[in-house]
Amino acid sequence: MNIILLGPPGAGKGTQARHLVDTRGMVQLSTGDMLRDAMASGSEMGKKVAKIMEAGQLVTDEIVIGLIEERLNAESGAGFIFDGFPRTLAQADALAALLAKLGQSLHTVIEMRVDDDALVARITGRFTCGSCGEVYHDETKPAAVEGTCDKCGSTDMKRRADDNEDSLRTRLMEYYKKTSPLIGYYYAKGDLRPVNGLADIDEVTASIGAVLS
Ligand code: ADP
Ligand code: AMP
Repeated sequence: MNIILLGPPGAGKGTQARHLVDTRGMVQLSTGDMLRDAMASGSEMGKKVAKIMEAGQLVTDEIVIGLIEERLNAESGAGFIFDGFPRTLAQADALAALLAKLGQSLHTVIEMRVDDDALVARITGRFTCGSCGEVYHDETKPAAVEGTCDKCGSTDMKRRADDNEDSLRTRLMEYYKKTSPLIGYYYAKGDLRPVNGLADIDEVTASIGAVLS
């Protein structure tokens, strides 16, 4: 079962994707994580995208489609979770073609609905474990012991360079201009299932579980 988690930055896609990986053995494909890994490795591509990402703009379709193509294979376990991809109609078409090549298809597109005011608080309070990637929030999901990851015990907590109000404004504009048309596109194909992303993390998890069962 291959699914897309679709929603604005801070909607909770990564948080819910990790839960699906842990509970269902699905494989998370986050283009944001892949691009951050490329930056951390110091590769040419990583250097090329660093400024674009920090400003909150989208990197080119060619780069992200290439990243997904490298990772998509028949070994999807219980299925792929596309997190932060596709973000344009061209990416959506490319994904359909790549899945078709593998004899696979898309099961569901989960639209995580969250209003803009909540997104500012979500983004400015976000931090993650640099070791295992667990996602935290200063208010809604603090670590049990401050500065230490609940999951792996690491003390390497990180905040993203693009998690500030300026960059978020650009990211939201990019979302409304280039990504939100995908909502109509997947609705027309009969694949779209909206969930209320404003609810508590556990409630959102339950709503997604209900959609997938
Ligand atoms: P996305 O991957 O869509 O950008 P994240 O999963 O990283 O979003 O979540 C953004 C921030 O909001 C994180 O700090 C996370 O802990 C927090 N968060 C996620 N889901 C919820 C929720 N349902 N209620 C409150 N906070 C949440
Ligand atoms: P995310 O981790 O999903 O919030 O993405 C962080 C940043 O990575 C975005 O603001 C973009 O600059 C870039 N990015 C991630 N995924 C994509 C994508 N599918 N298309 C274009 N840019 C992307």
